[in-house]
Amino acid sequence: MRAAGFVGMSAARFERKYVYRTRNRLRLRIPRGAHCHFLRDGGCGIHPAKPTQCRIFPFWPELVEKPRAWAKTAAYCPGIGQGPLIQIKSARARAEEMRLEHAKLYP
Ligand code: SF4
Repeated sequence: MRAAGFVGMSAARFERKYVYRTRNRLRLRIPRGAHCHFLRDGGCGIHPAKPTQCRIFPFWPELVEKPRAWAKTAAYCPGIGQGPLIQIKSARARAEEMRLEHAKLYP
């Protein structure tokens, strides 16, 4: 776990404090009254070591491949539609990276 090293914790301690497991994935716990333990005013507090799904978002396969899901996500994510244009080929390559990293989620 890159994030554990980044914040100077052992993987086991980081997981106990910040992570919970579902059948196919590890998820960051959501603190009460906030979206993420690591969200700071200036952005992600663990940016260099943030999880793959954060690094690749919003180019997740289920969003890149489904325009309706993309539009629904864009309705609440202020970052979508900002910044330089990303070519679909590049978006699909990132989605593939996500697919490879989380093979159980994308059989
Ligand atoms: S990018 Fe991920 S780890 Fe960083 S603040 Fe957002 S949800 Fe949390």
